[in-house]
Amino acid sequence: MPHVITQSCCSDGSCVYACPVNCIHPSPDEPGFATAEMLYIDPDACVDCGACVSACPVGAISADSRLEPEQLPFVELNAAFYPKREGKLPPTSKLAPVLDAPLVHTRRGGPLTVAIVGSGPAAMYAADELLTQPGVRVNVFEKLPTPYGLVRAGVAPDHQKTKQVTALFDRIVGLPGFGFYLNVDIGTDITHDELLAHHHAVLYAVGAPDDRRLDIDGIGLPGTATATEVVAWYNGHPDFADLSVDLSGERVVIIGNGNVALDVARILTTDPDVLAHTDIADHALDALRDSRVQEVVIAARRGPAASAFTLPELIGLTSACEVVLNPVDKERVLADLAESTDALTRNKLEILSKLGDAGTPITRPRIRLAYHLTPRRVVGESRVTGVEFTSAGADDVVGVPAGLVLTSIGYRGKPIRGLPFDEAAAVVPNDGGRVIDAGAPQRGSYVAGWIKRGPTGFIGTNKSCAAETVHNLVADYNEGLLADPAHKTSALQRFVRGRQPAMIDADGWRAIDDAEVARAGDDRPRVKFTAVPEMVDAAAGAARPPVHQRLLAGLRR
Ligand code: NAP
Repeated sequence: MPHVITQSCCSDGSCVYACPVNCIHPSPDEPGFATAEMLYIDPDACVDCGACVSACPVGAISADSRLEPEQLPFVELNAAFYPKREGKLPPTSKLAPVLDAPLVHTRRGGPLTVAIVGSGPAAMYAADELLTQPGVRVNVFEKLPTPYGLVRAGVAPDHQKTKQVTALFDRIVGLPGFGFYLNVDIGTDITHDELLAHHHAVLYAVGAPDDRRLDIDGIGLPGTATATEVVAWYNGHPDFADLSVDLSGERVVIIGNGNVALDVARILTTDPDVLAHTDIADHALDALRDSRVQEVVIAARRGPAASAFTLPELIGLTSACEVVLNPVDKERVLADLAESTDALTRNKLEILSKLGDAGTPITRPRIRLAYHLTPRRVVGESRVTGVEFTSAGADDVVGVPAGLVLTSIGYRGKPIRGLPFDEAAAVVPNDGGRVIDAGAPQRGSYVAGWIKRGPTGFIGTNKSCAAETVHNLVADYNEGLLADPAHKTSALQRFVRGRQPAMIDADGWRAIDDAEVARAGDDRPRVKFTAVPEMVDAAAGAARPPVHQRLLAGLRR
């Protein structure tokens, strides 16, 4: 029985290196890895050993005999990545070339000490890569009291498998040399220069926390918001817990058709009784129970073949929700299908061509995919009543009534105090993760993840991205290009607590985590705290290790 990679593939490549016959592609060293929508197992080469199953941090791989019905399309999808051949390939012992771990040269002045700002996937993969070397110290700073960035606050609550990657991150937190400094805002509580004075290097993995804004009339009216704000709201991010999400109208329009738009549309149309078994924020669950939304329209400015969502997410959407098309869009799908030669695009179009007709009566909340609609203005006096679009190929203005209008046109990085910023690309200018200022490296400053390469890719894409930065950082350290910290390692704790007395360490995070799980009961993974003071209180309940262990830890630092 060959194994199959399914929807929650995070593309971190762990399976590639675990596979004894190198039958999972594209691998991180192959062209196409950076843009692949997922990884694929060659069914003819797979020897069914299951090594990939244990290596996958998000539970995305199963034997083909163990798939759920909605996962069956992934059998063909995996196979379609490989050329058709006659019969099974003989087993080989070929391993994928493993990325070299960065070898840190020990030198006078203490071990390599790195501050990482942010605690999402890029930060945690960078910490993991650095801590492959004995003696290295990594201190991770996060402005929220809870870690893991978009895995906690971005991944949709009905994608619990994807959130399993936090088990890997928790293991990294437990590695010798790892320090957590949560609830500490770099740039406010502590400056870049102060942080650098305590470390050889500062690596920013702060993601792209803003949204790209749509500049049309009516944006900002009550009843408009961005999809990513709604994502943060239903995921219990403390800055968005009070967001007003008005679900009293029958229709919601989402502008843009990337995976974020699909996530939001799915959550707004899924039965709240199903969501009640997830870690969705309680305030969002209550609002969804009172929701009167019957239809979510996902409006794209281009045609079906240019849909921004990925194929695995489309498969997931259509198996979980009712998704329909207007007849004019069905014709567009068929026209694109007749012209398209790209296998991935054709797969998407095939699925779209089988969707139901939007003309049928609405019996349960549903999603309508709509194409060739360029947003012109949001309509409404004191609050939103709809959106006007111009439709390509027609001079007409198309009006779509709606009680809530969400823009979902991508994330955007924001400037970091003390670092250069490229306004056009909304990233920190860098060369392989080395921050570049006025054409020269800004010594000691590095970036990884979305602030380095822009808001694209999946959780695991950050593994190879972070590895590249760490390799360059270690090379600079080995060449003696990084100044030794001005302060002793042991001074950091006191310095940070002096600036932020409510700083939370790894024990504090464990206490928050335990408390959230404990309040959930048996039928939910956790009930999240959604206010900072609640989190700080829960962290304060952390069991303090005995005095001798604390002294020992202090000495090691
Ligand atoms: P995205 O994939 O870049 O999609 C942005 C959408 O906005 C596109 O449809 C784009 O249309 C549209 N758009 C941009 N500017 C516009 C304008 N001025 N007017 C109208 N439409 C406009 O962004 P995203 O959905 O925020 O996703 C960000 C990244 O996170 C992606 O890599 C995504 O795959 C990833 N992600 C993955 C998952 C998952 O795997 N489950 C979940 C969420 C996010 P054009 O194509 O015409 O520019």
